[in-house]
Amino acid sequence: MALPATRDDAHALDAADDLSGFREEFVLPEGVVYLDGNSLGPLPGRTSARLEEVVRREWGADLIRSWDVHGWMELPARVGRAIAPLIGARPGEVVVTDSTSVNLFKLLAAALRMRPGRGTIVSERENFPTDLYMAQGLADLLGKGFELRTVGRDELASALDERVAVVALTHVDFRTGEQLDMAALTAAAHRVGALALWDLSHSAGAVQVDLEGCGVDLAVGCGYKFLNGGPGAPAYAYAASRLQEGLRSPLWGWLGHADPFEFAREYRPAAGISRLLCGTPPILSLVALECGVEMVTRAGVERLRRKSLALAELFIGLVDRECEGYGFELASPREGARRGAQVSYAHPQGRAIMQDLDRGGVIGDFRPPDLLRFGFSPLFLRFVDVWDAVATLRRVSEERLSRRA
Ligand SMILES: *Cc1c(COP(=O)(O)O)cnc(C)c1O
Repeated sequence: MALPATRDDAHALDAADDLSGFREEFVLPEGVVYLDGNSLGPLPGRTSARLEEVVRREWGADLIRSWDVHGWMELPARVGRAIAPLIGARPGEVVVTDSTSVNLFKLLAAALRMRPGRGTIVSERENFPTDLYMAQGLADLLGKGFELRTVGRDELASALDERVAVVALTHVDFRTGEQLDMAALTAAAHRVGALALWDLSHSAGAVQVDLEGCGVDLAVGCGYKFLNGGPGAPAYAYAASRLQEGLRSPLWGWLGHADPFEFAREYRPAAGISRLLCGTPPILSLVALECGVEMVTRAGVERLRRKSLALAELFIGLVDRECEGYGFELASPREGARRGAQVSYAHPQGRAIMQDLDRGGVIGDFRPPDLLRFGFSPLFLRFVDVWDAVATLRRVSEERLSRRA
């Protein structure tokens, strides 16, 4: 892609973009360039309307009957079926429930049960903190013989042995956007007889994922990032069909029971992926997530990936050209194929620069120690937004320099 020379050239890229129509489907404030859709996706207009309808017509008018007549009971499985093709899973392998953290706990515990005699969970030091904490907490609960072992990214394959029950990794690094090799690391786990659990929080909706093709055993992911499901949207959990019969959730909630309304005294797990359900599903949040997922499905992950790579490539190219000498150091892989849908720069004044950007109408985020993080969520971002963001980055950097002079 040739770098645009002018803002009009950036407009021309938008005119040629077959996903450009999706932007109008979002509620976005005027004068803001939102480069944080990787952390909290924006509000689809349809979500407001649909929530209003469900609140008034279903909850308001039909009350408890809605569990049946409006299919509320089916929602965790239905939204799971919609997410499945986005991550290379089959129908019946994904269910929407709880948070990513809680699903990690359930699936890590289930993995340890499926590998009796092995007590080690392996992850990498740079994994997202909640992924590490949930594993630490589980090992603490189980006691002697159970541990979380964290290693550097390059040592992962060599750190595996026959004590490892499960390798738990995040597909796209939340700090740098680096994409891990899911196929190779899953195969490495399998070579020592361990299971592979992947966190897709920064992947689903932006990056192609092929769980089945990579032979992945278990996975979790978040609903409020690229899936635009709304703040605190419920998460999803995946288990390969071949494992489901032997899968035991440690949380025996009544909605994971084979027949919740039998009100039996003894727990019997539901058939299939529904055994990962626990308590009553959050219907309003599920409805919102369903709207977000529908848009991603309509756009198609392949087209989304192509656009997000183009947006990020434009950003990197413009920062190279416009912000040279201001001290930004690319902390993400330069090669698109090794990146998710975000670009990070290290800068010693990163936190203050991000605040300046925010005042200038560009929303990204800062991650310690020194990373400015920019997300390229392809459903609503325009190429001209990228142009404007870099122009603002250049202006605030210039102003910082002249204040110091
Ligand atoms: C966002 C994110 C989570 C979020 O977990 P919650 O339980 O929803 O707070 C977990 N893991 C990763 C890798 C994430 O990026």
